[in-house]
Amino acid sequence: MSCATNCVCVVCGQSAPFPRSAGVCPSCDDPTAVLEINFDLDRVRALMTPKTLASRPVNHWRYAELLPIEPDERAFTWPVGWTPILDSPRLAAWAGAKRIRLKDEGRNPTGSFKDRASSVGVLRAMQMGDTRIACASTGNAASSCAGFAAMAGINATIFVPKRAPKPKVAQLLIFGADVRRVNGTYAQAYDLCSAECESHGWHNRNCAINPYLVEGKKTCGLEIAEQTATDLPDWVVVSVGDGCTIAGVAKGLMHMRELGFINRVPRVLGVQAEGVDPIAIAFETGALPSDRAGQTVADSIDVPVPRNWRKAVHRVRACDGAFVRVNDDEISEAMKAAGARAGVFAEPAAAASVAGVKRAIEEGVIDPGADVLAVITGSGLKDVDSAIAIAGEPTDVEP
Ligand SMILES: *Cc1c(COP(=O)(O)O)cnc(C)c1O
Repeated sequence: MSCATNCVCVVCGQSAPFPRSAGVCPSCDDPTAVLEINFDLDRVRALMTPKTLASRPVNHWRYAELLPIEPDERAFTWPVGWTPILDSPRLAAWAGAKRIRLKDEGRNPTGSFKDRASSVGVLRAMQMGDTRIACASTGNAASSCAGFAAMAGINATIFVPKRAPKPKVAQLLIFGADVRRVNGTYAQAYDLCSAECESHGWHNRNCAINPYLVEGKKTCGLEIAEQTATDLPDWVVVSVGDGCTIAGVAKGLMHMRELGFINRVPRVLGVQAEGVDPIAIAFETGALPSDRAGQTVADSIDVPVPRNWRKAVHRVRACDGAFVRVNDDEISEAMKAAGARAGVFAEPAAAASVAGVKRAIEEGVIDPGADVLAVITGSGLKDVDSAIAIAGEPTDVEP
């Protein structure tokens, strides 16, 4: 059973009621005053032991006590999480690291890390009796939301920005979603989605301001701890857009330390795209810059106005982490290296974590003797045009 206790505002620290779906602090006049869900870890410790965990299904519902909602049997067949961790010595040699492991989140049902959040969001919508869920997304949250809505048998309305890669839009359409392609940026798609949810009473899956979803993302951190407990990495590396993924992963690692599954928390490295680096700036200066619209091949982390920067900055600080930036050339090189040296096909935003390892070693942020785990947040099949542009065309021959 869920051991969630209460919701608190990350800005004023006051308790707030659990929202139906998305929601920010009712007392703060700030769209980034998001809510954090707390858990009774003493109760979790009694119920979730290594022994009880060993008998549970190998998907993310195994962490029922640490989820923000009561998992129920309608969702137990959705195969989310428990993705493999691959040791990649040839990639480590490329990056100049002692060791690199990749956690391949591209193997989730719709091909990205977002499935951890969408599964929780869609189940929450079902439990509330809502028949339509909506989200705005650069692509993966959208296809993931649409996929789980299809599994659940509820409707999805999805707002995507004009630049969303075609394969992600194809996923949405095949999953039967009502797809609204917004002739504008992600920020504009986001605002339109929020307004439509408000006026129609739709269930709002927008991750940054929906506290349930970050808890879904947390399961990646829980898993990393459980899967590597006896062989813990020094660093866990995650690419950063809105900041929900890194905040969730770090929170999961911290829970597992407090519960005694691991004896230290790995440091967490956030990787942003050069030019679209508002959270890296907030980490360094304590304040979010007004708008960091730039250019990056990594569409999934192209978020100039992040909503979840506070949780991200707070968690990365708490685990003595750091941020680095990578440019498009480095992302492209990392995409090729992950493919050719580890057999992992990552989309640009996912390969950014691998590029970030190399950059962090070059900058002296990560020691070359470190043991590193990089999260591959999405499959390269999500953006084949970028992949072909980076890898080149095949050699044409006669039969
Ligand atoms: C969403 C996403 C990220 C970043 O997650 P945030 O929660 O927005 O920081 C990274 N990689 C991929 C592939 C994503 O889809």
